Parts: sequence; C-alpha cells; structure tokens
Amino acid sequence: MTPERRGSVEAVAESLRRADSIGVVGHIGPDGDALGSMIALSLAARNAGKRAVASFAEPFVVPDEMSFLDTSTLVRPSEYPTDLDAAVAVDTSVPERVGSLAGAMGKAKDLVVIDHHLSDGTWGDPVLIDRTAAATTELVYEVINELGWEITPAIADALYTGIVTDTGRFQYSNTSPRTHEITAELLRQGVATDVIGQKLFEEMPFGYFEVVSRVLGRATLISESDFVWSYVTAEDVDEAGLDFHEIDGLIDLVRLPRGTQVACLLKVKTRGTVKGSLRSRGLVDVASLAGLFGGGGHHNAAGFTATGTVDEVVAVLVAELS
Ligand code: 5GP
Ligand code: MN
Repeated sequence: MTPERRGSVEAVAESLRRADSIGVVGHIGPDGDALGSMIALSLAARNAGKRAVASFAEPFVVPDEMSFLDTSTLVRPSEYPTDLDAAVAVDTSVPERVGSLAGAMGKAKDLVVIDHHLSDGTWGDPVLIDRTAAATTELVYEVINELGWEITPAIADALYTGIVTDTGRFQYSNTSPRTHEITAELLRQGVATDVIGQKLFEEMPFGYFEVVSRVLGRATLISESDFVWSYVTAEDVDEAGLDFHEIDGLIDLVRLPRGTQVACLLKVKTRGTVKGSLRSRGLVDVASLAGLFGGGGHHNAAGFTATGTVDEVVAVLVAELS
C-alpha cells in the first residue's frame, strides 16, 4: 500500500461480494464523477444479482447534460433503504458531503468509501481512497473488475463520464497512462465519445450567455496576488432562467487570464452564504486555501461553503495569497 492509496481494491470488493443489498451514495450536487460512480457501481451490482440502489441528498436533480445516463437504479433520498448490507460513499470521504444521507448510511453493516480526494478522515471501513486516480470512476472500474462483474455499455458510459469530466477532457495533470488504459477498455464497450461530449460540454441554454456576460464583466484581477475572481448571484442565474448546476463550468472562463495563479468564482445562492470554486495553475495548493473555510478538494481544484459576504471571503483569500 503506497501512501497515495489508503485501503485496497480487494477489501472493498470483498465487502461488496458478501453483500446482498448495496446502496451507493454520491456527494451533494453530484458532478459527472459522482453521478457516474453511483450509476456504474449500482448497475453493475444489480446486474450481478444484488439488490442495489443509488442516491444523493436533496436537491435531487440529475443535471440535464447528464440525462443520457441510465438512471434506473436512482432513488430519492427519502427512499434510501436503512437495512442494507453495504452503503458505499463515492467521490467523497467525508460524511458532511453526503448531507442528509449520512445517518441512513451509518445503519448499513459495512460503510464503504471509494474516493480520490485528499483526506485524512476516518469515515468508512473498508475504504479505497487513492488521490492519484484522476476520477473516482477509475477506482470503481477497478472494483468492478476485481469482482468480475460485467461492464455493460450503460456502465461504460457512466464510468467514461466521470473520467472525461474530472480530467477536463484528458487535459489536467491528474490524467495518467492508467486513465487512458481504462478509457480504452470503455471505448471497446462502445462509448460514443462524440455524443457524450456534445451533451456534457457543447450544449447550453441561451440564457448562459447572459450569465457569462455579467460574471466576466465584473471579474477582478488582483495582479499583486496573481489572483482573479468574480461572483454570481441567485438573481443572475434566475433572470437567465438557469439553475446553479448549469454554471459549474463557468470557473473555466474566470481562470483564463494570463499571469494568474489562482482563480475563484463565488456563488451567492442565499444571502449570507457563499459557495466558492477555486482553481490553481499548479503553484498554489487551493485545497488548503479552501480549508480556511472548512472546504477541500484537490491541489488544483477545490471548493468550500463560507458564511459571510463576497467581500469578506475575498479579503480572506487575498490576505492568504499575498
Ligand atoms: P467545484 O469548484 O467544481 O465545485 O469543486 C472542485 C473540487 O473541490 C471538487 O473536487 C469538489 O469535490 C471539491 N469541493 C467543492 N466544494 C467542496 C466543499 O464544500 N467541501 C469539500 N471538502 N470539497 C469541495
Ligand atoms: Mn471526482
């Protein structure tokens, strides 16, 4: 076991092999990796003859761009069973990130964690936490293979979705030879990369332009700190007829300015609470920056939820970066 990896594929596979009933739970506001991991593992378990469901806490909405995924194992959080042999947290290793489902998950015989985030937590046993994995779906792929469960086309689509979204389409530094080897296997199952790519990355409601124009229009560059930031409010999103999850990719525009090391997009969903997205070009560890507000993530991509105003949050970030 390397320090990069805690736990093992074998231990997680053994727990799932023994279990007759399995519930897979992703983090709140699931992204492509969380949703892909939940769907892939629950479908594979169901195909292997287990009673298997997947869920995530309210708001229970599958983003439009991911509606091509097979959602037949998804159940509302209110329907998540409490009599399971194994509850599996995917794409997070802290109970806070599964929200209201943490209690129900604790009632399962085994609480399994499969994740690729930096974490020194103690949640889950057995665990498979590997921060060198580009996506949690890489780890789910390993577990499914270890179990000898079949990777059907629907499962391959879900696993691919996690990889292609978390690697920024195979661009970020987390992309490894292993990422491409796994992806090659998935493509052999018939993943339509062009169709999935269009759904995930190349379709937006027209109102997105309005939000982009406002957010980029108010972006602030703090050259002394190599820092660029902007914010978006509930009014911006509402008036454009969008939902907050539809602007997840907006940070990728805010981070563009040459010469910056850190970018931040602050989302004010309700007054007094600010959800921050942080991105780094590599010199600064934004996971520890997010930690200032009790958040976390990866070296180059992290997030947090803070109480206070936009200006207060920015002041803390600038003080830390200067
Ligand atoms: P995003 O900015 O895209 O929402 O998130 C970037 C990364 O930071 C993701 O890996 C995500 O899991 C992590 N992250 C986002 N928000 C939080 C948070 O509130 N707490 C923790 N621990 N991680 C977060
Ligand atoms: Mn992930």
